Amino acid sequence: MQRVLVVEDSKVVQQVLRHLTALYLDVVVDFAWSLAECEAFIEKYNYSLALVDLTLPDAPNGEVAKYTLSKKIPSIVLTSKIDEYKRQQMLELGVVDYVIKDNRDSYHYAIKLVAQLLRNQGCKALIADDSVLSRTLMKQMLEKQLFDVTDAHDGQQALEILKSNPDIKLLMTDYAMPTMDGFELVKAVRNFRGRDDLAIIGLSGAGKHGLSAKFIKYGANDFLTKPFMNEEFHCRVLQTMEQLSLIASIKESAFRDHLTGLYNRRYFYQYAEKLLKNKSKENTLALVDIDFFKDINDTFGHEGGDQALKQVGSLIRSTFSNFTVSRVGGEEFAIILPEIELARGREYFEAFRKKMESYDFSISDRPFRITMSIGLAEFQNTSLTEAMRSADKALYKAKSQGRNCVV
Ligand code: GH3
Ligand code: MG
Ligand code: MG
Repeated sequence: MQRVLVVEDSKVVQQVLRHLTALYLDVVVDFAWSLAECEAFIEKYNYSLALVDLTLPDAPNGEVAKYTLSKKIPSIVLTSKIDEYKRQQMLELGVVDYVIKDNRDSYHYAIKLVAQLLRNQGCKALIADDSVLSRTLMKQMLEKQLFDVTDAHDGQQALEILKSNPDIKLLMTDYAMPTMDGFELVKAVRNFRGRDDLAIIGLSGAGKHGLSAKFIKYGANDFLTKPFMNEEFHCRVLQTMEQLSLIASIKESAFRDHLTGLYNRRYFYQYAEKLLKNKSKENTLALVDIDFFKDINDTFGHEGGDQALKQVGSLIRSTFSNFTVSRVGGEEFAIILPEIELARGREYFEAFRKKMESYDFSISDRPFRITMSIGLAEFQNTSLTEAMRSADKALYKAKSQGRNCVV
């Protein structure tokens, strides 16, 4: 579990940070008031990141940043003022970034920075540049942002690395390189990695401004002109990665059912259509509907009914953990067993039905039981609409045969 340490002696600022960390961070955050308290925390726990105030009563000259960095904790500095001398000092010390505390938005920036760095942790990045110096410099900068960095000396090598490492999330590429230049690389990469899946930042030399626009046209997410400042580099990378994770979370929430956390109807249809393209395999489609769910609502209220749906949903999810489970209606779920023919599929659902009928659920310590009616259909040489219709027919039959059965 990642853990973050915040060291700040102002009560007001700490309050703002507590509020923002609760809002944006999904990790444990400890708050210290002083260097002494910070040391005590570090003794006790391992931290992924520290956000530290430069002036504390017992450490008025940035000693806390020196301390957290000496403990190899990537650190972001909070400061009320910064001049060029202090800035250089901080960068030389090796802080990830500094945030000037002059308005509410700077705290927002600091916490969003922390959130992004936590997401970067372990995330793979690739640098393509023929200059050793430039590669080394960028590698250091990306490592400061907690990326796991690989580098390539030309476009061709970068392309090969990308092909065999689909988990690379960021590519920083120079324009002028032997064998394959930056544009050719971006064009080739976009054939198999989309904009929302791999961030690309193009780098171009000074005085070649036309190149930057071209990078974007060929599919880069952003560009940087060399030479760049430390801060410029960090901001561009952070912003680009943040966009990627925002898009991923929008996609995720568009395909999830809020109540149960299962996939929703929309995802189910996309997934099923994709499966149907492989016509050589027989699949089993199941529609699972809770029996007399209205009674649960009548007994426990709508809120209680929601609790019941959550519990049922998580039981279905754990039972079919190797398969895609979707909530396609109020108390109706769809499950596809790919490459499992109907007769075997039936065995799976018969076992599941039995498990459900004897499972002890409870809402606010009040026990209850439920049963399920299940309609199955073979799912191979049919359209999705047809398969859904036959599963629905089977489900209807299961209901009219007295429920708690598989048809
Ligand atoms: P049957 O055995 O015929 O399926 O009976 P049933 O009562 O389960 O089925 P019916 O389709 O008549 O009613 C389903 C009920 O599920 C009605 C609706 O109020 C309830 N329901 C649907 N979605 C939700 C939800 O998100 N939360 C809660 N609490 N209830 C829901
Ligand atoms: Mg029902
Ligand atoms: Mg129903």
